[in-house]
Amino acid sequence: MESQAPEVSDLEQLWGTVLSDIELRISKPNFLTWLKNSRLIESTEGSALVALPNNFAKEWVETKYHKLILGSMRSINGTTKHVEYIVEGSLSQRAINRRRRETREHQDEKQLVFQEMRVDPETNLNPRHTLETFVVGSFNELAFSAAQAVIENVGTKYNPLFIYGGVGLGKTHLIQGIGNEIRSRSDNKVGVKYVSSEKFTNDVLWAIRNRRAEDIKNTYRNVDVLIIDDIQFLGGKEKTQEEFFHTFNALHQNNKQIIISSDRPPASIATLEERLRSRFEGGMIADISAPEFEARFAIAKAKLQERGVELDDKIVELVAKRVQRNIREIEGILNKLVFHQITYKRPLDSATTEKIIAEVTDKSASRATPNQVIKAVSAFFEISPNDLIGRSRNKEYVEPRQISMYLLRELLSMSYPDIASRIGKRDHTTAIYACKKVAGNIDKSPDLGQKIVLIKEDVNKFG
Ligand code: ADP
Ligand code: MG
Repeated sequence: MESQAPEVSDLEQLWGTVLSDIELRISKPNFLTWLKNSRLIESTEGSALVALPNNFAKEWVETKYHKLILGSMRSINGTTKHVEYIVEGSLSQRAINRRRRETREHQDEKQLVFQEMRVDPETNLNPRHTLETFVVGSFNELAFSAAQAVIENVGTKYNPLFIYGGVGLGKTHLIQGIGNEIRSRSDNKVGVKYVSSEKFTNDVLWAIRNRRAEDIKNTYRNVDVLIIDDIQFLGGKEKTQEEFFHTFNALHQNNKQIIISSDRPPASIATLEERLRSRFEGGMIADISAPEFEARFAIAKAKLQERGVELDDKIVELVAKRVQRNIREIEGILNKLVFHQITYKRPLDSATTEKIIAEVTDKSASRATPNQVIKAVSAFFEISPNDLIGRSRNKEYVEPRQISMYLLRELLSMSYPDIASRIGKRDHTTAIYACKKVAGNIDKSPDLGQKIVLIKEDVNKFG
């Protein structure tokens, strides 16, 4: 039997408590954009239903904040097992009830699968990035053994550990793998925090603007292990570098472990303050180079096994031969090949394989939609698409906005008036200016070029 639905005011109260808890744990702009207009529609028999104002907010909240919301619901109402999300007004009460009954039986199974993919909101680590699934070859051996040493001697042996290497070679996987390993060996007792340099920068800017410097300290100095990804993006950002310098020192003095990744060694980050550079050089520096053929083959096999799918070894060999510098690209191609094989229900031949490889490597983002570009840019900078196309002239929005205009032009060959109208109904001269500016800056700043490469790679992930 259905249990009685609680009074509306109970729901409001419950949700209000959940929100005030979440508000403390995510940035103000994110909270206002994504959660302020949410509503708890139902909370019965261990399952809760949350309504969001539109589909995009629903997807975003579902992927980014589900664990946080579930955790918070549970801490308030211990019986909550599932949280689901719908678009406000999209379901009648009867449909809600039916949906709940139907999904209940499969929920446990589904939640298990999803949770495996979800980023842990406490550590920001992706549980998929483990050292068990990390293939070691001579190209990354040094970095891997340094990682092992850090795991055995957290904070005391190599501090900081600085890993560098090109795009898609496994830096993020490795440094997150260290974090996951330290967590699991310590029974989740050691406090680990993973952060991208973009997120760190945004947090610092936000704290400065809102006079909440304490927030930065609380977030980043109360950890045992701080992992910061793609530190090259701190280049030229003075305020952020200064804050990072203090964070670094506070942690280092207390033997807290710091793990850093970068696309190049500290000495080559042009606009990095000298004092930070020498701190980085005071630890262990290890590089990851391009994987040799055998390693690429092994990685491809491992990825297939992880997904529980099979491809002929000849096909895998072909992929490993063709794609030499980017492991992420190997994965993208494998996904397409597997998809193709399943759709057409027959093994792939080498001509088809070559064609698919060429498609992925040549023009990975050319069939994207403007919306995908906007989503990819927003996600990269960890801002909302609304802020991206919005009116604010804050530095943290202006750069992403200009980059998205540049990408709409470059990837989709859109006209300037179209670009301008898509990005917040602006004047076409704004689009011309933005595209010129970004194009000019790419030549001057390798960081910008790097960001654009990374965003382009991501565009197809956004449906
Ligand atoms: P980077 O941060 O250097 O750009 P990532 O860590 O994001 O690269 O790696 C790109 C993809 O390749 C990820 O999906 C990752 O799991 C995979 N990958 C990279 N290196 C390895 C490895 N040695 N073994 C298994 N998978 C790897
Ligand atoms: Mg990375």
